[in-house]
Amino acid sequence: MTISAQDAGAIHEAPVIRLPTGRLLIDGQLVEPLRADRTIDVINPANGRVITQIPACGPEEVDRAVQAAQRCFESREWRSMRPIDRGRLLERLALLVEEHADELAELEALDSGKLIGVTRAIDLAFTIDGLRYFAGWSSKIVGDYVTLSPLVEEAAIYRAYTERRPVGVVAGITPWNFPIGQAIQKIAPAIAFGCTVVLKPSEETSLTTLRLGELILEAGFPAGAVNIVTGLGQDVGAALVEHPLVRKIAFTGSTATGQRILAAAASSMKRVTLELGGKSPTIILADADLERAIPGAAAAIFSNSGQICTAGSRLYVEAALFDKVVEGVSDIAARLKIGSNFDPSTQIGPLVSRRQRDRVQGLVDTGIREGAVALAGGEAVEGDGWFYKPTVLGSVSRQMTVMREEIFGPVVCAARIDDGDDIAKLANDTPFGLGASIWTRNLDRAHLLAERIDAGTVWLNTHNVLDLAMPFGGSRLSGLGREFGTESMHAFTEPKAVCMRLDPRAAAR
Ligand code: NAD
Repeated sequence: MTISAQDAGAIHEAPVIRLPTGRLLIDGQLVEPLRADRTIDVINPANGRVITQIPACGPEEVDRAVQAAQRCFESREWRSMRPIDRGRLLERLALLVEEHADELAELEALDSGKLIGVTRAIDLAFTIDGLRYFAGWSSKIVGDYVTLSPLVEEAAIYRAYTERRPVGVVAGITPWNFPIGQAIQKIAPAIAFGCTVVLKPSEETSLTTLRLGELILEAGFPAGAVNIVTGLGQDVGAALVEHPLVRKIAFTGSTATGQRILAAAASSMKRVTLELGGKSPTIILADADLERAIPGAAAAIFSNSGQICTAGSRLYVEAALFDKVVEGVSDIAARLKIGSNFDPSTQIGPLVSRRQRDRVQGLVDTGIREGAVALAGGEAVEGDGWFYKPTVLGSVSRQMTVMREEIFGPVVCAARIDDGDDIAKLANDTPFGLGASIWTRNLDRAHLLAERIDAGTVWLNTHNVLDLAMPFGGSRLSGLGREFGTESMHAFTEPKAVCMRLDPRAAAR
């Protein structure tokens, strides 16, 4: 099935977009869901029209997928596959994704409302890099040699080492803001480190993950190594979390769902990594280079229409620069071009869904009722689609809802740092701990402040820079564990210690 530009309603240059078949990837085959009548409408966020439907699976499909993943995990073929050959599978998939990058970018933009240019340059590039990055890791799994200090028989000779064993079947559960990139963030390390995986994309944006399933098949992965099931969180997600054969849950999404997953995983002690929400501060000190800091602060919050977990949603500025920065960011907000996400000149596309648009609107309204003032934006764009104007809120105070809750939209709250304020304390005045940026020319202040900020990543004179080699994750309500870099090896494997006693008499012979 294809969809034409006119049907899509959001397309600037009229490409014809090939939709995935809507079949699930289970046990090395594209299969129909068990019940054809259980579907979820896929809505184009740019015009609110239905594009197609995806299967709303239930526990039966989840069970089939998990059983297939377990069979593969236990199979001789999988267990004896050379690590470097698992890497080759990922490399083959990288080539296929690269070959289909334009098509995947268009599909992603259509489904999520993301800007087409950014989707191609960031999301797809990150996806391809991610596959290659983890392909390399598959042959670099190492344990340790351990020196023991035996207590009982001091003369005995012991040798001990650790190896890292794949944790088992992984359930990957992903959100809607970076759909294909997130899918690869779960699938690629799982395969690289010898696990098998069942992936459940967000019900809001499943199309690229379904298409990825078709490419995974083409790449020749062994049956069951990667499985993809779609559906609602409360059905498919919860069934995955509850399934006794799932040994690890790699989750990215909201804090509320993460908390539910952690509680549900406790009884079976499933391994869990949680990449959750944030309320990240952008901190501009009095000696900052404003030519970089003002556009930097604007990009920190308005990129991807604010739908980034590390979005700089609290803007703290030292008093000397406060008015200038707030004016500059508000000016950018007012000038950003809102429009079709397929128009290359558009800078702000729609939010992902009506629900998200209404949530953003509701929180801004609450903020204004509580005393905040909209210095830019503050309202939805009239007409079709789920567009929301880039918004700057002033006159905010620490206890206001807009300063405490994650909004996940293009809304920044600006607060002044007065003389004598403890800046680290302001930055940490949130239950989250995902990211933070500090803008300054003073290296001493930058590093000393970075040390005191309780966040998974602190950026200096930049914001939202993610790299596959740099550990990523959050503290407090922003999550548990880390992804990327060496941390991925720890997250997808379990250490096993092997300890052996040698016969000392053998040395004499
Ligand atoms: P969400 O928690 O609503 O959904 C995420 C996924 O969880 C979806 O696939 C959903 O179907 C599934 N789910 C829902 N209920 C479930 C349940 N009971 N059991 C198992 N799975 C369930 O989040 P969202 O609205 O899709 O995404 C936005 C959130 O994700 C924001 O809070 C954002 O900050 C966060 N996020 C975090 C990161 C990060 O790396 N820290 C990255 C992107 C997004």
